Order: sequence, then C-alpha cells, then structure tokens
Amino acid sequence: MNYRHQVLPAFELAGLLRRHFPGIRVVAGGGMLTSWKKALSELDLRFSCFDHIVFGPGEEALASMAAGDSDPSDYFLDQTRAIAFVPDFGTLRLQDYLCPLPVLPLSTSRGCYWSNCRFCPEATAPTHSYTSHAPNAVPDLLLRLAQKHEVTHFHLTDNAIPLPVLQALAERRKDMAALAWHGFVRFEAALTDAGLVSRLAEAGCKMLQLGLESGSARVLQQLGKGTRLDHVSQILKNLHQSGIASYVYVMLGSPGETEADAEQTLAFLEKHAAQISYLNLAIMNLPRDSEWLVEPGQSDIRSSALLGEEKPLGLYRSFEPAGNWGRREARLFLKQRLLGSGPIREIVNRTPPYFTSNHAFLLGRDAFKS
Ligand code: SF4
Repeated sequence: MNYRHQVLPAFELAGLLRRHFPGIRVVAGGGMLTSWKKALSELDLRFSCFDHIVFGPGEEALASMAAGDSDPSDYFLDQTRAIAFVPDFGTLRLQDYLCPLPVLPLSTSRGCYWSNCRFCPEATAPTHSYTSHAPNAVPDLLLRLAQKHEVTHFHLTDNAIPLPVLQALAERRKDMAALAWHGFVRFEAALTDAGLVSRLAEAGCKMLQLGLESGSARVLQQLGKGTRLDHVSQILKNLHQSGIASYVYVMLGSPGETEADAEQTLAFLEKHAAQISYLNLAIMNLPRDSEWLVEPGQSDIRSSALLGEEKPLGLYRSFEPAGNWGRREARLFLKQRLLGSGPIREIVNRTPPYFTSNHAFLLGRDAFKS
C-alpha cells in the first residue's frame, strides 16, 4: 500500500485471500504502512487479515520469508536497506490494462539523492537509505525491458531521476531514440545546458516533472529546495525549445511565506507561461514530523495540531502561521489571483479534473492547446 486510496482495497484483497486460501501467509507493506510505522508499532496495532507488516523496502524481507529464513512469529518486520532491483513484469497481461498503450514503471533510484526539502517526507522522515542503479546500466535496462515486453513507453518513478542517469541516457540517445519516457527531475544547474536537454529529447524524454514550488528566491531558500530561479528560467526555455513537455509543481502557503512572495510566484508563472506545458497548483501540507516544529521561538509556526479524524495515523499537521499569511490566505490567493490570471488559467485548463501527469505523458505537450 503506497497511497491512502489503496488501503481499503488492500484490506479487502487480504480478506479475500484469507477466505480462499486459508493456509497462506499474507504480508502487507509499502510506503503507506511505512509512514504509519511509529503509530502501529507503539500501539502494537495488528490486523487479523495480515500475518506480517513490513516497514521500509520489502524485497529482502519477502525473499527471506520465501526462503524460510525469517522468524514467523515476528508481526512487524523492519527493513531499512534499499536495493536497486530489476522488476520482472513477466506475469502481467499488459494488454489488459486500461491504457492506450502499455507503460512500464522503473525506478532508477530509491529514496531521494537531495533529501533536503523541509516540506517533503523523503527529507523529514526517510524510511530507508538512498540507492541507485549504476547510471550507465540504466539505458541497457530500459532497452532490455522494451525488447522483452515489446513496449516503448516508460515511467521513471524516481523521486528525482539522478543527474548521472540523465547524462547516461543522453549519451545513449541513438539507441534510445525509439523509446519514450518521463519522470521527476530537479531543476539542476546542469540542465541549463541546452545541449544536454536536446540530447535528452533525442533519447526519448517526452516530459519532465519539476518541483518549482515558489517564484520567490527567499521561499526556495526557506524550503531547502537548493534551486535557483535564473536556472529555472533557462531550463524551462531549454525544455520548450527541445520539445520536452514540462509539468511544473507549485506550492503556496509554506510557513514563512508572505503575500509578497506569492505575488512573485504569480509574476514568475506569468512570465514563463509560454514555456510551461502543465501546472499543478497546491497548498502546502505540513508533514507530521516536520523540522519546522522543533524551532520554538524562531519558528514561522505559532501553533500546530495533527490533522484529520484518523489520529494517530494522520500524516500531516495543521498549523497557524506566526505572521498574517497562512494556508487560508494562500488558498484564496490561489483561487483569485493565480487562477484569475489569463496565462495561468490557460495552462491549468490543459489539466482537467482527473487528468494527471501520466495522461499528459501520453497526450504530449500540446494537448488541449488552443
Ligand atoms: S527533491 Fe523532491 S523528493 Fe527530494 S526532498 Fe525535495 S521534494 Fe522531496
């Protein structure tokens, strides 16, 4: 279970497995359960439909269970070592998926090599160490999977595709030309090199997802993004010129943000609207373990409480800002000022309800363009 919406179906599935195959061991794991590690362990919360719950990356724990090496009396199993592995899609009937064409997921890395953004659970509560495939092995890995499963499209599911992997893909552009792929990258200084970006396009890169978050350098600094707005400008230009779609994520309402910062975000987006293919506009959620809370007196947060009825399984906290600009004001700004802007509205209209980056990848850069 990696996302909240998978929790109920997973329990239902576990119940079905229990009823139909009473003898088998049912094991649960994934990012969602790992986020609940502290609460489940402290409360010793056990679910009768599962024999074990694995926290962290589950491959080694599963392999050791299959080999009979683990103690079957342990309910909670903890695995902190991540491995870069090659997935086996051999048992899947790819043609049965509700998708215009099969898209295979592949993580070239686990965790995040940056791990510094103060709003991100990968930084505030990492569940395992960072690891990645050898960059030069990734092009061959994709080519092998493409040939074996007769697919051309890939979703690189990394939190942020490491720069050496991007460089390796660009190097092998002649071999990669028949493939199409997309994924998250950071606004790395290296991508200000128009040559590298155009080589990525030749290597099959159709869309990159990028977390801009804010058009205010001050807020970027506070967030720990480690990115520069002049780099962002150049990278968006490079992507546009090379025909790679950009899916840009923006986040308002972080602690310490002011109305002036939000205005800078608006101005930045308007200035670069012609180079942004898709936009995701959001209000920041504060992770429950955020370090913003451990700076009493000098925090941008006056008070905070766990969100939702599901405490202690809540993943986020509500907060009251120390100043007079908080989530409420940010939400109003998003609705009235950002969505009230013609150029921004035009981009947002390309992402109708239920439309996600996965659809954008298949439709390309100019979907819904008037
Ligand atoms: S780069 Fe992305 S995944 Fe990594 S810490 Fe920042 S927001 Fe999280």
